[in-house]
Amino acid sequence: MAFLEISRLEKSFGPLHVVRDFNLDIEQGEFVSLLGPSGCGKTTVLRMVAGFETPNHGAIRIEGRDMVRQRPNQRKIGMVFQAYALFPNLTVAQNVGFGLKVAGVPRREAADRVAEMLALIGLPDLGGRYPFQLSGGQQQRVALARALAVRPRVLLLDEPLSALDAKIRVSLRTEIRAIQQRLAITTIFVTHDQEEALSISDRIVVMNGGIAEQVGTPFQIYNHPTTKFVANFVGTLN
Ligand code: ADP
Repeated sequence: MAFLEISRLEKSFGPLHVVRDFNLDIEQGEFVSLLGPSGCGKTTVLRMVAGFETPNHGAIRIEGRDMVRQRPNQRKIGMVFQAYALFPNLTVAQNVGFGLKVAGVPRREAADRVAEMLALIGLPDLGGRYPFQLSGGQQQRVALARALAVRPRVLLLDEPLSALDAKIRVSLRTEIRAIQQRLAITTIFVTHDQEEALSISDRIVVMNGGIAEQVGTPFQIYNHPTTKFVANFVGTLN
């Protein structure tokens, strides 16, 4: 049994069939990217795992337990979005501690956890700042710390780098991967950027029109694409 099992997932919005027979098993601690062009259903898969969308059909199991009927806050999932979704009127420390407060973690323990998370993202001294006083890259690191503070079982990253400058994008993706490995947290990363997926993932799911075209390691996807779409999309066919 895999740590996270997604089986036969289907999702339609009215007549639009967005996710079709989507299957994916993810091992504990694995970093898996969903890669594909805009509109192919990546975010919808992620939102179903998070519990923000309900599938029309299929199962999402974490350690054997079906999540589909659990509310988002019961799933123990952390999520980081593309645009910085920090609370602008809260300090960095308050942002990072937000989920802990909601969960009723005692103040002292929460303060320790916040300090631990700020150290983890390399911003130990910025707890008193407000989001507008941070760079885009720093804001995304805080968003990551906030997602991780509640010690989720699964981390979902929805294009977390795409709003950043190219240079920051590369350094932050390396850092995200290092933090992910240090915590050994099971992660799904959504991106439309081939190079990003190839450089950061244990495995990649290449999606097209709501379907998983190919699932494999970066090496397999790059060197042995099984469909023309995959070959085109990862740039090995010109
Ligand atoms: P991706 O993340 O790959 O860009 P999405 O999962 O965001 O793709 O979207 C897949 C398709 O589903 C798109 O055509 C999008 O417009 C549509 N879609 C997504 N969410 C909704 C919604 N809540 N209602 C209607 N259509 C939606």
